[in-house]
Amino acid sequence: MSRMASASAAIQLSQRLAQSGITDPDVLRVIAQTPRELFLDGALTHKAYENTALPIGSGQTISQPYIVARMTELVLAHRPTQVLEIGTGSGYQAAILAQLVPQLCTVERIKSLQIQARQRLKRLDLHNVSFKYGDGWKGWANRAPFDAIIVTAAASEIPNALLQQLNDNGVLIIPVGDDSQQLLKVQRHGEQYSSTVIEAVKFVPLINGDLA
Ligand code: SAH
Repeated sequence: MSRMASASAAIQLSQRLAQSGITDPDVLRVIAQTPRELFLDGALTHKAYENTALPIGSGQTISQPYIVARMTELVLAHRPTQVLEIGTGSGYQAAILAQLVPQLCTVERIKSLQIQARQRLKRLDLHNVSFKYGDGWKGWANRAPFDAIIVTAAASEIPNALLQQLNDNGVLIIPVGDDSQQLLKVQRHGEQYSSTVIEAVKFVPLINGDLA
């Protein structure tokens, strides 16, 4: 795809997301300005601006643009300074967030995906992202606390470490469940937590334990 064709395809994608109910103008602007094709293998770039999840190798997927936009909107509503993402994957969600928040930390358990994602963000001149190769079920204790944590893989239950690493009033956006998954927004109030169901979703599983 030529640079102009991909720029206009990204604008069209953003317009479709607006029709699907995404309302935050900053999120829509950044989706319109970010070349999603950079986050895909050559053979799939013709599908880069479709509103679908796509394979990125190692059995993983780049999330559907609608859900990337929705989760980003939920994070931004809390005006966060420091955000943690679990599941770097292709780096697309990280690239969107990095353009909208001051500091992003992101954790991935598959080394090859992490290396590619780091290169892509550098190529886009996004330098406010710290990458960690590790088990995101444990969060990133050295960098905590976070104003928002976004998990881009489905957990069988809410990892306790992530709750502990939230700032007071911080939010955790996380898909929970196995076959049937719900996107949850959990907010910390001191030592109490409140939880809201956002919508039904379909993510690859959040692995608990060993690194790949
Ligand atoms: N945010 C990504 C979505 C990638 S799919 C994107 O925009 O492309 C989910 C990712 O979570 C996969 O790359 C998978 O390897 C990773 N993952 C699964 N369990 C994990 C864990 N415990 N710690 C860190 N990453 C994990």
